[in-house]
Amino acid sequence: MSNKPQDGRIWINGLETNLTGKTLSHLDMADIKRETPPIRVLPDVWVVKVGGQSVMDRGRDAVFPIIEELVKANEAGVRFIMGVGGGTRARHAYAMALDLGLPTAALAKIGASIPIQNARMLQMLTAKDNGIMVYHDDFEKLPLYLQTGCIPIISGMPPFEFWEKAPNVGRLPQNRTDAGLYLLSEFLGAKGMIYIKDEDGLYTADPKTHPDATYIPETTAKELLDSGQDDLVVERVVLQYMMRAEHMREIQIINGTTPGNVTKALNGEIVGTVIRA
Ligand code: ADP
Ligand code: MG
Repeated sequence: MSNKPQDGRIWINGLETNLTGKTLSHLDMADIKRETPPIRVLPDVWVVKVGGQSVMDRGRDAVFPIIEELVKANEAGVRFIMGVGGGTRARHAYAMALDLGLPTAALAKIGASIPIQNARMLQMLTAKDNGIMVYHDDFEKLPLYLQTGCIPIISGMPPFEFWEKAPNVGRLPQNRTDAGLYLLSEFLGAKGMIYIKDEDGLYTADPKTHPDATYIPETTAKELLDSGQDDLVVERVVLQYMMRAEHMREIQIINGTTPGNVTKALNGEIVGTVIRA
């Protein structure tokens, strides 16, 4: 192999591609645009988020019936990855860390511990029904776990941690567990992304503080971002990611406190708000 300069660039014979010698930071996207569409890694598997604040913090009355429906679906052969949020304890940690002047990256690192606690609780509760804790380094073993009838349980927090970017406003990490699980579902080319929360879906405002808020059964990410709506049922960055997604161009937010909703959603029914890219 020789690596003689050609056209002012270093070429290693046999390894030339259309990216050879480029910085990968150039703005002419023509030569770095994808030539083949990305594959779906696990197209038959749902990604399901069990809310931290919206479900876990409500305790057994909310958690047990949801787990029961998830376990039944798994037994019926519906395959899904169960992710979970952090909730109130994460909010307490964020508030303390903000008060102490810690930067976004530190908050993201600290915030990552709490969904792991919630994931561990869900794993113990489903151990007899094949619930299995999965860490990011074990993702390549997901096919085995799913094929043997296990329910992979993961923390929803993405692993950006100390590398979490500062948000446009404030210092709270913008990629939290809604975003982490969304990004996972997109990477996997999953069957769908279902958020199990405690409201029927999206309203024009937080229905807990605005009882007059109107329900929005379906909308688009762009419409929602453009609307300037003050508060959302899902992390704002998820909407931004949806707009450039290859696969996961639709998410559903359902009320897990309504019996039957989880089962129906995993059967492909619409029982909550659908947001499309
Ligand atoms: P999770 O614990 O699943 O991350 P969050 O508590 O962070 O859930 O977000 C869900 C909550 O968002 C709902 O319980 C609801 O009170 C609140 N919320 C805020 N704005 C809206 C809105 N526009 N529509 C519906 N729910 C909203
Ligand atoms: Mg949340």
